[in-house]
Order: sequence, then structure tokens, then C-alpha cells
Amino acid sequence: MRIQKLDPLVAQRIAAGEVIDRPASVIRELLDNALDAGAKTLVASVTDGGLETIKLIDDGEGIAKEDLPLLCESHATSKVHDLEDLFHIQSMGFRGEALYSIAAVSTVTIASSYLGQDAYQITVDNGSKGQVQPGGPREGTTVRVEGLFKELPARRQFLKRPSTEATMCRYVLQEKALAFPERAFRFITDGKVRVDLPATTKKQRVLDVLAISQNIVPSEMLELYDSAGRFNLYAVCSSPALYRSDRSHIKIFVNNRPVEEFALVQAVTYGYGEMLHGGAFPYCYLFIDVDPTLVDFNIHPTKREVKLRNKAEIHHQVVEMISSQVRRTIPRIVAKEIQ
Ligand code: ADP
Ligand code: MG
Repeated sequence: MRIQKLDPLVAQRIAAGEVIDRPASVIRELLDNALDAGAKTLVASVTDGGLETIKLIDDGEGIAKEDLPLLCESHATSKVHDLEDLFHIQSMGFRGEALYSIAAVSTVTIASSYLGQDAYQITVDNGSKGQVQPGGPREGTTVRVEGLFKELPARRQFLKRPSTEATMCRYVLQEKALAFPERAFRFITDGKVRVDLPATTKKQRVLDVLAISQNIVPSEMLELYDSAGRFNLYAVCSSPALYRSDRSHIKIFVNNRPVEEFALVQAVTYGYGEMLHGGAFPYCYLFIDVDPTLVDFNIHPTKREVKLRNKAEIHHQVVEMISSQVRRTIPRIVAKEIQ
């Protein structure tokens, strides 16, 4: 076989597969964009597990009319201007790839009012761009994604049942909501409101999200704080009286991004030490805020991996914070019994 250049739409769809593999990844990207736009209320809805429609309504600053045609172009972003910016990223997005990828594999309509001005919209249908037209929300941005993977039946086959896909979308929203308690989130499936999280405090948000799946008494959850040099730690975690038999509720966020970092999950369990017996794991939502120059999220398109320059130091401090602060809450009675 001779070498030939791929057709641009084929190349676009191959690249899209890296970023968008199911409805939940669309929801993740749309939520990130709304958060970056400063939205205070984010309402996500899906029908038929996201295969029919995925919609996100936000009340953020909106998109200027002139920028609408650029949205679904590759590497089009308002968040990074030069290479240096990559090393102090404050926003959730930075690749300018999400809408481009979504638009390659669905029909996406973006309607927006920029800072309360008249609204305009544009539709991109499986890579082909329409005209900018008047119309849209009174404030913020509404993105509507229809017929995801309709032209890629092979990818559709990898999806689960609609109800399972909808649940995955809900998990993504709940995970984002944990990191941004000062914003309100709602999730609607086939017209039914499944999640309704008003703006609140960090601890209450964790309790609200846990209450969706668990019955937890607020007094059994502790708040821990620590700060050292170029990072701050904050955790909402269970007293040793409350535990589970798996690590599924040890969640780590770095600069508001959920990350998969087993070393830090281990740091949490080391922190509890013998306060929990073997095979018992705590609930722990750990938020690490690090100087952006010390982290690199630019490893994987879905950004769940992170490189931390001072990982050993953070690890040590997490163990230290948990072991000292959780121990302090254990009632004295234990010591009396020993005497
Ligand atoms: P990135 O988020 O990495 O910049 P995206 O493809 O997700 O790339 O979005 C491209 C650009 O579109 C963003 O940089 C932003 O300027 C704009 N944008 C997307 N969604 C919204 C939104 N909901 N509100 C305001 N601007 C948005
Ligand atoms: Mg984005």
C-alpha cells in the first residue's frame, strides 16, 4: 500500500476519538467550558442516554458573534496564547479541541449571548459549518449536541445501554460539582430532574452529592485543612466510625480537576493507618491546590493524569494531615479503656 494523506474529516474523526468516546465525555467538556466562562448555574440534560441529545445551558459570559465561526476549528481557544501559558493554566480547558472534536461526530448548535447582547448561533453538522444566525438565549450559552456518532456506527456499538450512559453523564456532573460548590448544577434525564445541587459550602456539597447515593450522617464527616508553602490541602473525610470495603470514595482533585493518582489515594489510607482495620477504607474527598507552575495536566486529552513537581512533599503532608487531624477527633474513651 502506498502512503496517502488522510481525508481531513477522517483525520478529524480519528483525533476526536481521543477526546470524545461517549456522551459522558461530551458532558465533561461542555461543563468545563461553562465553568471557564464563569457560569453560576449549569443545567445539563440528556435524552436517550445522550445519543439523541445532550444539552448544556449556562449563564456564563457568552461568546462574541465574531468568535462563533471559530469555535469548532481545531486548536481554537481563548485560554492559551503561547507555550508559556501552558505552564500556569488556571482554566479547565486549554487545547481548543473539545468543540472541534464534538462537531466532527455530531450535529452541534451553539447559541450564545455575549455579555447580555443580542444572541447568535451556529450549527456544525458532522464537520460542516453553517452560517451564523440571530437567535439564542437571553444570557450565557446553550450548546446542543444531537445524533452523537450517528455517522460512526462502529463507535456507537461500544456504548452501553442508554440508562447506563445517562448514569455516566450524571457521575461526571457530580464530580465537577464537588470541585465547584459555589456554583449550582442540575442534571435532567429524559425530562426528569435527577440531580439538583444549589450553590453551597464545600463540605455541604460533598454531603449533598453523597446523599444522592448514600445515607451519611453529617457529624461523621470531618473537615481537614493544611497548608504548606506552595500548596493547600482541604479534605472532607469520614471519621473512623464510618468506612467502606473499597477505595471508591477516595477522590483526589488537583486544582479542581479530578485526577487518578494512586499514590495520593494511598497517602489517604496511610494517614488513617491503624485507625481503620485492614480492608476498611474511608470516604475522603481531598482537594489539593497547587501553584500552577508545579503541575502539568498536559499529558492526556481527558486530563485525568497529572504530573506534580512536588509530589513527595504533598504525599507526606497528606499522610501527616490525616493522621494528626483525624486522630484528634477520636473520643478520649478509647484512651481510658487502655488505662
Ligand atoms: P478550550 O476549552 O480548550 O479552549 P473548546 O473547544 O472546549 O476549547 O472551546 C473553544 C473555545 O470556545 C473556548 O476557548 C471558549 O473561548 C469558547 N467557549 C466554548 N464553550 C463556551 C461557553 N459555554 N461559554 C463561553 N465560551 C465558550
Ligand atoms: Mg473546553
